[in-house]
Amino acid sequence: MSTSQQIVKVAVPAPLRQLLDYAANAPIAIGTRVLVPLGRRQCVGVVLAHADDSEYDELKLAQPLDEEPALSPTQLHAIARLADYVHAPIGEVVQSALPVALRDAKQTLWQSEIDYRPLEVPAQRAKRQCEVYAKITAKLAIDEADKAIVRQLIKNQCIEPFEQRAKTYLTEAPAVEPSPPLTNEQQSVLAALTNGDQFAVHLLEGVTGSGKTRVYIEWLQRIIQQGKQTLLLVPEISLTPQTYDRLQKALGVKVAWQHSGMTDAERLRHWRAAKQGEARLLVGTRSSVFAELPELGAIVIDEEHDSAYKQQDGLRYSAKTMAILRAQALKIPVVLGSATPSLETLQQASQGQYQHLRMTERATGSAMPSMQLVDMRPITPIAGLSPLSIEAIRRSLANDEQCLIFINRRGYAPTYYCETCGHVVGCHRCDARMTVHHRANRLKCHHCSHEQPLPTQCPSCQSVDVRLLGHGTERISEELSSVFDQVPVVRIDRDSASTNNKLKALLAQAQTGDPMILVGTQMLAKGHDFAKLSTVVVIDADQSLLSQNLRAAEELAQTLTQVAGRAGRSLTKGRVLIQTRTPDHSLLRDLIHRGYQGASQTLLEERKIVGFPPYRRMAAIRTESTDAKAALGVLDTLAHYLEAHSESVDILGPAPSLMWRRQGRFRGQILLLSDTPNPLHKTLRYAESALDHWKEAKKVRWHIDVDPYELI
Ligand code: ADP
Ligand code: ZN
Ligand code: ZN
Repeated sequence: MSTSQQIVKVAVPAPLRQLLDYAANAPIAIGTRVLVPLGRRQCVGVVLAHADDSEYDELKLAQPLDEEPALSPTQLHAIARLADYVHAPIGEVVQSALPVALRDAKQTLWQSEIDYRPLEVPAQRAKRQCEVYAKITAKLAIDEADKAIVRQLIKNQCIEPFEQRAKTYLTEAPAVEPSPPLTNEQQSVLAALTNGDQFAVHLLEGVTGSGKTRVYIEWLQRIIQQGKQTLLLVPEISLTPQTYDRLQKALGVKVAWQHSGMTDAERLRHWRAAKQGEARLLVGTRSSVFAELPELGAIVIDEEHDSAYKQQDGLRYSAKTMAILRAQALKIPVVLGSATPSLETLQQASQGQYQHLRMTERATGSAMPSMQLVDMRPITPIAGLSPLSIEAIRRSLANDEQCLIFINRRGYAPTYYCETCGHVVGCHRCDARMTVHHRANRLKCHHCSHEQPLPTQCPSCQSVDVRLLGHGTERISEELSSVFDQVPVVRIDRDSASTNNKLKALLAQAQTGDPMILVGTQMLAKGHDFAKLSTVVVIDADQSLLSQNLRAAEELAQTLTQVAGRAGRSLTKGRVLIQTRTPDHSLLRDLIHRGYQGASQTLLEERKIVGFPPYRRMAAIRTESTDAKAALGVLDTLAHYLEAHSESVDILGPAPSLMWRRQGRFRGQILLLSDTPNPLHKTLRYAESALDHWKEAKKVRWHIDVDPYELI
């Protein structure tokens, strides 16, 4: 190695737990993207450290791709802590932090474009030259047809070309639109929120319609006025153009955004606007927690309970964890907002880690909806509904109002059943039933991509006596259309709203306020505001009570509260009917009588008794394989090994996953539980290095999931 070279330690996009050493011909700043050879390929890595020497002699060369770092030092610090916490290879976390477009060596951090500086007005008779010159002085776009004239202007020394950083074309800051005065509750919350240079987490628990968004806006405004940038994280579903518009008009600043409906190029453009400080607010979904905001002064996480914040494949991280690590590194405050905070967050608040702020009344003054359980056991439903529900819908429609039927199951019917031999058509790749989709005339598996034409006979005994059992959104909509033939029945689910534009069109129809019946899944449970909605009916609320999953009950309480929150947002008092076959279930009773606060207290007590999160720390180690024996065998060996090597960690399992076979692979897991984080992470490090080295483990795919969202 020649003396003019230095050594850089690079995070590469590969499942490696260490950084790799490369040589550099000139100093490269930490955080800069570099092109490095890795095995036979060239890949984009990021310089994370410098070194004086290396244990390797022959170092390959790292070539810088940009003149300045893509990732800042504080960000890299938070990223390193995240990688440690989730036990993911550092290179993979760094890669996730880069916009997709910048993971490509062909793309540069900044782009330049040619602009022109006016020098001297052209002679008056040169009409076209004068026109183009005027365009340039007015900073208007030059089009293709002007190019020849531009060359003449340069030749005549009327203008001079120069290179500059390409514009981001972010919408100009609009004039601020006045808002109604703050409610008393909003005022006291705002008074309690910090905005100084210190780390703090506030939990804003405000009932649906209490005006949390308004609080975010006022708070962010305050921070922006201090000359800082801000970040607002939202779950995918609520990032509608209306949200964006509302924020921009309320704040009167340039806003950048990031969501899954944008192309990589658009995302990069908005990312650049945030990085160069042009955007004062960045609104985005999960991965925007990694965006570069050099003057970041505050973070808001809206609907903090939403599962969308946890990535459940690839890099298994929570945007909440990353946001908090980032806020700690920067010494800035975070607001977690929700009408239905997660149990983890509530527990942190009760321990005094987070400041708990509450808003209990709707900002518009309208009353909270009334909730009622409907016992379905003695009832023969019509279109899946009880007579009481039908009557309530009829009354709302007669008042020119809207109704929402919530059912968390898309398709026509969840079961295709043979009356003769009892056969139920299942997916050949998953332990799951095939769902009937009537209009498409197909059977679809909702757990993998498998689908097939709807058979007319039983595939097992060829009997034609086959039945479609149960109700999905498609069937409910069809049957409701014949019961209520005077009004439109609008179905909103992943099938009817398969594209963003279709979803927009359906929502626009609903937002007209015309009397109609909306039939929807989870998609309609949150975020959307329908002013004329007065009655909500929830079908099959018990479904999740039967599930063994860790968060089934918590999610049900959240979903029911959120769906109920759609009702009676403005004028009429809303009414919510929850149809159930287990009306005595304690969770449902709690929810009706004591609201989400009561229900969440009960759930927390239950978690405490069984010793589950948030009272103990949890991680899952999972395997999957086409070989059923291998999937559990590796875990079995691992469990024994860990038992011998770890103290104060309970190891549960191995056990097959709740859905043992999915997409043709068998899946198993072990659960690790401990009272405090350190022993858990120590054990996970043992597991990691064991699995990295065992030959047996090469036969399976495995991963670690810290704070698993569900027990799949
Ligand atoms: P949340 O996010 O808590 O569900 P929103 O921020 O969407 O609530 O507000 C609910 C409704 O209340 C919106 O229609 C909003 O315009 C209105 N609102 C919010 N704050 C006020 C206020 N201070 N005065 C009057 N109306 C308000
Ligand atoms: Zn049969
Ligand atoms: Zn399947």
